[in-house]
Amino acid sequence: MTDRIREFLRTRREDGPCVVVDLDVVRTNYLSFARALPDTRVFYAVKANPDAAILTALEELGSSFDCASTGEIDMVLATGAGADRISFGNTIKKERDIERAFKLGVRLFAVDSYEEVEKIARVAPGAKVFCRILCDGAGAEWPLSRKFGCEPEMAADVLEHAHRLGLAAYGVSFHVGSQQKNVHAWDGALASAAAIFRACAERGISLSMVNLGGGFPTRYLQDVPGAISYGEAIFASLRRHFGNAIPETIMEPGRGMVGNAGLIETEVVLISKKSEQDAMRWVYLDIGKFGGLAETMDEAIRYPLRTPRDGDDTAPCVLAGPTCDSADVMYEKTPVELPLSLSIGDKIIIEACGAYTTTYSAVAFNGFPPLKSYVI
Ligand SMILES: *Cc1c(COP(=O)(O)O)cnc(C)c1O
Repeated sequence: MTDRIREFLRTRREDGPCVVVDLDVVRTNYLSFARALPDTRVFYAVKANPDAAILTALEELGSSFDCASTGEIDMVLATGAGADRISFGNTIKKERDIERAFKLGVRLFAVDSYEEVEKIARVAPGAKVFCRILCDGAGAEWPLSRKFGCEPEMAADVLEHAHRLGLAAYGVSFHVGSQQKNVHAWDGALASAAAIFRACAERGISLSMVNLGGGFPTRYLQDVPGAISYGEAIFASLRRHFGNAIPETIMEPGRGMVGNAGLIETEVVLISKKSEQDAMRWVYLDIGKFGGLAETMDEAIRYPLRTPRDGDDTAPCVLAGPTCDSADVMYEKTPVELPLSLSIGDKIIIEACGAYTTTYSAVAFNGFPPLKSYVI
């Protein structure tokens, strides 16, 4: 916890769980990415945390932005960033949203199909398109495998289709899976990208750009390599597969930009057992899967917990949220160790919650308000 967050929480008076994000940490993360791959433009993946103060701080540092919707595009433009700093990176867009983005000045669009290329050709003539390829997500804790991207063998055809329809066939993108802990995970996708560059060159189409996507991790329970290690491994792969003709590159960190910048303060609502013989305590917090901790789905992301009684003897607990949906259990298959002295009313700090929390919070399920967010 940073001193600024500690001081903020000490004086906070409102009730209910909240996220607090320290902008200084976001700024430090941005600079680490910029230094790790100095020739690579950073496009912050807005979905990780679209708070206006975060977008503004990144705009001031010179970041560009990966947007998934016209809503996110509007948020970025509201910071004063020009549309030339926006990539419309969702491969699934309504044609009228493409048109609207194009009218706002956006010129860079993701595709992974002929059908999406045709939409863009109709309403965004001359725009640049890059084709996303499938990536298996091995080594990632939150894989994004099947939904996005086409087989690498199809990408050159998709890009050629774009070229024939008057678009600028611009490059290739992929995402190696979120919370990717293997620094070498980019190598296979970069080999595929280089093959697509060659296939297009044979057809007289010269691609310019490789979009390295996101995947850079945040420290949860275990240490993760720093941005610099990722930069070195990615640069070595670029050299290996592209030789001296390294293309323009961009990256889209989301989790790695904001994850460690924020934490959640929550309160213990109930500690109980299911029978007198059962030793397992159920600990219910005032936040759960529907209050912003959606990434505990399948117990994929395991957040570090801090209690005021750390150091006391511990025992395993099931950790659950406050809502009346029985799916609102965060950790049960692998319980969490919590102090035996933990009491109802204690405040728990959930660390590394700056990414993928606020916008995953339900609007009013069971009458609980959306997660409060403070960016300081
Ligand atoms: C979500 C997303 C990202 C960010 O991924 P992280 O793993 O959070 O860094 C980047 N690019 C695209 C296209 C995405 O959908």
